[in-house]
Amino acid sequence: MIAGDGIGPEVVESALEVLRAAGASLDLVHFEIGLGRWKRTGEAMDEDDLEEISGCDCILLGAITTPPDPNYRSVLLRLRRALDLYANIRPFQSHDLDFIIVRENTEGLYSGVEEVGVEESRTLRVITRRGSERIAEAACDLAARRRRLTIIHKSNVLRSDRLFLQTCREVAERRGILYEDMLVDAAAYNLVTNPQRFDVLVTTNLFGDILSDEAAGVIGSLGLCASANLGKSRALFEPIHGSAPDIAGKGIANPVGAIRSAAMMMRWLGELEAAGRMEEAVKKALSAGVRTPDLGGRCSTSEVTGAVTGYLMAEES
Ligand code: NAD
Repeated sequence: MIAGDGIGPEVVESALEVLRAAGASLDLVHFEIGLGRWKRTGEAMDEDDLEEISGCDCILLGAITTPPDPNYRSVLLRLRRALDLYANIRPFQSHDLDFIIVRENTEGLYSGVEEVGVEESRTLRVITRRGSERIAEAACDLAARRRRLTIIHKSNVLRSDRLFLQTCREVAERRGILYEDMLVDAAAYNLVTNPQRFDVLVTTNLFGDILSDEAAGVIGSLGLCASANLGKSRALFEPIHGSAPDIAGKGIANPVGAIRSAAMMMRWLGELEAAGRMEEAVKKALSAGVRTPDLGGRCSTSEVTGAVTGYLMAEES
């Protein structure tokens, strides 16, 4: 567990309550990692943490503040890289929408290869065949059980994206997956005007980051959305929102994204029944109008959590 900063600890506490109510039996290790620790000790996360985290099966994370300080190294990027969590899976569901963004998590414009100057700064956009192949495989694994794949790129301008597009096409053809491709600007427009047309979308790191916040807006709130960062043998689950300093400490953060992330974690751990029950309980609470202010409701974080655990307990008795 990495509760993190801002609303991170608030939503992680909710997720833990719901996990307990679902009967999850987990051997939990808590890590104090993030801005709070950095302010206290000058380090947000050290090599010992990384080693201990590598010994855990998976991680549930709240949110971590990344301050605009050149000496602060993003904890999330370090974790994703150290554990090689290359596939970021972001499902978006509402009453009439159901699509998944699969974002490449280790390269693209987040390569970390940068030169920062006063007059000129550069960031290297790295696209590799191996990186494109493995994210395309992850997306095809999902699309094989669904309808089709949309490959999102900007290959008309970015020559690096031709390798991404070509590799994704090859994988989809080899796997017999129905696919199309779309420029990222058209995808951004379609996400708002015609989101029903999408099923599984696969894209590079920065495009995936931006499109998924847009998708969250289309669904209704950042606070609703969950994600899994998957590697070959390790995984990190987190709501897609950040530490939301504007509402931290007010008790009104939407815990649904964190609860859904915990359900994704249970599914990954093979606890399908508990995962399904957690997801159902969330749906029931939302349909009953139990909503935090980001969704136009008046409920607090703990009221939403209480409603979800209430549905889980009612089912059991
Ligand atoms: P943010 O996601 O924290 O907040 C954006 C807006 O959405 C805010 O108005 C916030 O109040 C609202 N919001 C977010 N989550 C919500 C929730 N659960 N319930 C209700 N409203 C919610 O993005 P930001 O403000 O751009 O970033 C704040 C900090 O978080 C930055 O330091 C950023 O680096 C960090 N961040 C961390 C992660 C992560 O840990 N995975 C992701 C994104 C941003």
